[in-house]
Amino acid sequence: MKYYDVHCHLFTHDILSRTGSSILSFLNRFLTDSKEDSCTDTDGRLRRISGFIDTALADDALETFKEMESVYGAHFAVCPLCMDLKYSMIDARPGDDHTAAETVAAVGSYEPDNRGSYWSFRRIVNFFSGNHYSALPNMFADSFLTQIEEMERLKARYPDRVYPFFPVDPRRNRDCDLMALIKQKVGPGKPFVGIKLYPALGFSVTDPFLYGSEKGSGGLYAYCEKYSIPIVTHSGFRGYAALAKRIEVCGDIFHTESGRPVPVREIYPDGIVSFPIKEKMSEITMRGYLFNHPVLWEKVLNRYPKLYINFAHFGGDKFIYKYIHESSTSGYYTAEILRFMAKYPNVYTDLSCFVDNGKKGYSLSEVKKEIYDKTKLSVRKKFLYGSDYFILKFKECSLQNYYARFREVFGSEMRKIASVNTGRFLRYGMKPKRIWRRWLW
Ligand SMILES: [Zn+2]
Repeated sequence: MKYYDVHCHLFTHDILSRTGSSILSFLNRFLTDSKEDSCTDTDGRLRRISGFIDTALADDALETFKEMESVYGAHFAVCPLCMDLKYSMIDARPGDDHTAAETVAAVGSYEPDNRGSYWSFRRIVNFFSGNHYSALPNMFADSFLTQIEEMERLKARYPDRVYPFFPVDPRRNRDCDLMALIKQKVGPGKPFVGIKLYPALGFSVTDPFLYGSEKGSGGLYAYCEKYSIPIVTHSGFRGYAALAKRIEVCGDIFHTESGRPVPVREIYPDGIVSFPIKEKMSEITMRGYLFNHPVLWEKVLNRYPKLYINFAHFGGDKFIYKYIHESSTSGYYTAEILRFMAKYPNVYTDLSCFVDNGKKGYSLSEVKKEIYDKTKLSVRKKFLYGSDYFILKFKECSLQNYYARFREVFGSEMRKIASVNTGRFLRYGMKPKRIWRRWLW
């Protein structure tokens, strides 16, 4: 029986260094903003980043795949999720795009507490900035095609072991015919099994490229729904996010006062959202909140109720913790995903990057006992296993320990979350769905 890790990343040195400045500023925030991470001391954070860099230095995805294989064995297949990072750094006002340069300067002037941290830190900065902060030629270089080619090579070598997800940022459509490219690359018999979305990179989930026009024609969701092509989207308000301070948005954003999705131009007449909006929220949370709120997804699912979609991370640490320890309403994102899973036939969630978080966080066995075991079968069969390797390294957790912990907690249910359910979620990305056509005469 084949098992799947439905959520991992095989970014390589080449891909990450091309988007070096955006990764660098992410690391900067990770280091300096305590809201982003439960780990409060700088040394601990540096250690985590250093672990991440070790894998990020891989020259090709094969190296990381082999590392995963040594833990999982040959009966496992993996789903690497690609991301189009280019537009997340581009400021909407041309000529005013200092964001990246500012960030690189900020990181350059950052002073870690002690010598050990200092050298880890220098190593990280050097890796991404090519040894000097002022040299920014690679800043907006594009890793989009590099990633696609890298995945195509890996897929050709391991056709039954690698099922990549194609990176979609609707803004890419300005630079190429994105829909044509998707049709060429994604689906049964093609290198990619599905679509990866990451709205916090700076686009709305109701962007017309995805959602179609307001009248309901066209759009990627319509295509994916018709052929049951699976989609993986990030959920929760944490993780990586766009760094630009002004982002031009098409479609709806979440409107705090009304709690509704509202066309962006009703709030920002020129369609350009300016940050920061709320001082209380971290930069990453703000972007997730505006672009990736469950209320926006409800609008999508209303129109495309049969969409095969995985809300990755089950709403994220904070909401899962609240759901278990406070109330289902305070665990808002997690509660909403559970509601979607009950209401819509093909909504799934993955338990990826699920590391026991010590005192303040939830444990995997709590998730199993308090949520998984208590949900009805029709919902339970839509939980998927994922690792988020090698982002997992940010949590200082080896894949070996991660997988062992899952087997220990889930026992015989592991077969369901890693094989039966994942196989069902991915199936039409692998084998064509029969579309019954009405006989015309
Ligand atoms: Zn991930």
